[in-house]
Amino acid sequence: MFNPNDLLKNKIMEKGGFINAHAHFDRAFTVTEENMEKVVNYHLFDKWKFVDKFKRKADVSKYADNILAAIRTQADQGVQAAMTFIDVDTVSGFKALEAAQVCKKLAADEGFTLKICSQALKGVLNPEENKLLRKALEMNYLDAIGGLPRADHGYEQAHLDEILFLGSEYNKRVHVHVDQLNDNNEKETELLARRTMRWGMEGKVTAVHSISVAAHSKEYREEVYRMSRDAGLSFITCPTAWIDSRRTEWLTPTHNSITPVEEMLEHDLVVAIGSDNIQDVYKPFSDGNMYTEIKFLLEALHLYDIDALVKIATKNGRLVIGMEEDNGGAKI
Ligand SMILES: [Zn+2]
Repeated sequence: MFNPNDLLKNKIMEKGGFINAHAHFDRAFTVTEENMEKVVNYHLFDKWKFVDKFKRKADVSKYADNILAAIRTQADQGVQAAMTFIDVDTVSGFKALEAAQVCKKLAADEGFTLKICSQALKGVLNPEENKLLRKALEMNYLDAIGGLPRADHGYEQAHLDEILFLGSEYNKRVHVHVDQLNDNNEKETELLARRTMRWGMEGKVTAVHSISVAAHSKEYREEVYRMSRDAGLSFITCPTAWIDSRRTEWLTPTHNSITPVEEMLEHDLVVAIGSDNIQDVYKPFSDGNMYTEIKFLLEALHLYDIDALVKIATKNGRLVIGMEEDNGGAKI
């Protein structure tokens, strides 16, 4: 009996397995019976603060336990490599980052490639936060620099300019959480493409999510895709992370709450896939299974092109996490 799921899985495994291009392993498995009850109805921005409690208490070995558990679960699920964001801020200090360095070496011994990217939950503009990020770069603790423009609310462009400047200074790839809320008031992907070109970082910058692009008019979407092409901007979709976007009465073009990947592919943009959060207060039920992510992607967008899906799950992941040289964002 022909089973398209088996065909797709086998083709991905033939290419060495999944690349999980976006995750937060340092908080994996931190959901508990008690905290789950409290956070069920919290808004995303409240959860950012809630997580501080865990971060203050956790020591290096606790972080290492989480990261290693995530790596081993991922390996069992057919993942060959991942890029994890790791909190680097004045709450966690370097605890999570130091744990990640140890786990990276242990993972390599087990045949798993771990790439480390900074997570800037407290922004990058506050002098204390900025100092930590620069120190992490000086110590060569990072494979990539992460961004979260909303963490420097009101100063989003300055946030992007700082990480893109550091990316060019230290020759690092830059991954930025943008347009997460499925809301056409957001235009962060456009801003990221513009600032990428301003800093000459074409081909080295990846937008994580870009869901709100789908809430804009076709004309605007086409413009963003063209601009992204010029900027060599690549994308990571994390399908289950935002499929839970809440219902509102705000009217936008009809669409599922997911990165508009099928349109991006039509514009020759490179798209990879990630799990985002795993069993933490953000996504208590997410188990990090990358086939679940692929399944949501193909169902939400009616994207049945098996070769394109295999590329998203493997080759494109290697490109955006820096396991392979990129070619300026051109389709491969
Ligand atoms: Zn994320």
